[in-house]
Amino acid sequence: MTALAAVKPAAGFDIDRIRADFPILAEKVYGKPLVFLDSGASAQKPRVVIDAMTRLLEHSYANVHRGIYSLSQSATDQFEKARDIVARFIGTPDSREIVFTRNATEAINLVAYSWGQAFLKAGDEVLISHMEHHANIVPWQLLRDRIGIVLKVAPVNDAGELIWDEFVKLIGPRTKLVAITHVSNTLGTIVPVADVVRVAHEKDVKVLIDGSQAVQHMHVDVKALDVDFYAFTGHKLYGPTGIGVLYAKAALLEAMPPWQGGGDMILSVTFEKTEYNDIPHKFEAGTPAFVEAVGLGAAIEYVQSIGLEAIAAHEHDLLVYATERLQAINSLRIIGNAKDKAGVISFVLEGIHPHDIGTILDREGIAVRVGQHCAHPLMERFGVPATVRASFGLYNTRAEVDALCAGLQRVREIFG
Ligand SMILES: *Cc1c(COP(=O)(O)O)cnc(C)c1O
Repeated sequence: MTALAAVKPAAGFDIDRIRADFPILAEKVYGKPLVFLDSGASAQKPRVVIDAMTRLLEHSYANVHRGIYSLSQSATDQFEKARDIVARFIGTPDSREIVFTRNATEAINLVAYSWGQAFLKAGDEVLISHMEHHANIVPWQLLRDRIGIVLKVAPVNDAGELIWDEFVKLIGPRTKLVAITHVSNTLGTIVPVADVVRVAHEKDVKVLIDGSQAVQHMHVDVKALDVDFYAFTGHKLYGPTGIGVLYAKAALLEAMPPWQGGGDMILSVTFEKTEYNDIPHKFEAGTPAFVEAVGLGAAIEYVQSIGLEAIAAHEHDLLVYATERLQAINSLRIIGNAKDKAGVISFVLEGIHPHDIGTILDREGIAVRVGQHCAHPLMERFGVPATVRASFGLYNTRAEVDALCAGLQRVREIFG
């Protein structure tokens, strides 16, 4: 059973005003109000994000970093301002440490290709955990296939927490990198990443953190953490798709070779020799997703205007409330009962396939994720083929949790 402490919703957190900021929340599904409980897969967008992108497209659209004319200058300024916003948001004063990518997946692949291929050799170990998203498993397997690194996996206990002693033991003399999630997308487990960085650095091991499920829920400070690489994705942070972020220490980026070649990442090109651009542009070949970057900047400013502490308190209240209510449902089993959890609840109902549950809930206007959540090894670990996952965003309410529980009662009635 979970031991989550109850927290009062933050004072001044005006949920009605916040919900009004998200146009899609007024939609109906099968004539019922939309209850969106799948923000862990992708969050909805506030009006300010949609407007920021539309404004750029309508008033200052032109390719960045090339034109001498006003439109291009303006688009470039906005793009680079978005980089500054991202940098401050995660606690670095140096915007050169922010590389824009397509998403978190590309950010992790960048590290595996560039840093991995340049600085690791056969027999070197990369340590991940059993609760990684496929995005933080497969790039390391590809690297293993290319250069012969060894992939080690730290186990989790039945509550879905990293088994600390085992984890520390797995950091050995050949370990070169710990690549681990900050928050599990399936279990909601919050990994003690400050401790991870500390023990890894004591052994001179670099650390990559996958923050795809963290930055939208809690304050992250890469400098306080002293983490080497931090990856996240824009669309789960109320920003658009097509934009993600790799933070890396400047010295690492300087030392890393480019991984894709093309325009924008060069200073000069002859057929004999190409001189690469400075960081971070060295890692941003081709026309970047600058409209989306500006949208992400607007999303971050929106989140900051509400405050991550207020958001975390609100979501924690929902988590505690939903956990209590779901546990009261007959033969419902919650997968993942870590002491430290973000607003994600995976569960199964005995004898009913998650896909059937998802389909019936959809008829009630309730959007949840069903399946394996890009974490096949984790499903195997907990002996379930799939789960239903409800995940909360800053706009969700207790009434929506009630709707979910009513929907699950409906499922029970249908299946008898
Ligand atoms: C969603 C997610 C990713 C991948 O994000 P993309 O936007 O698909 O690249 C990686 N890790 C975790 C923990 C995630 O939740």
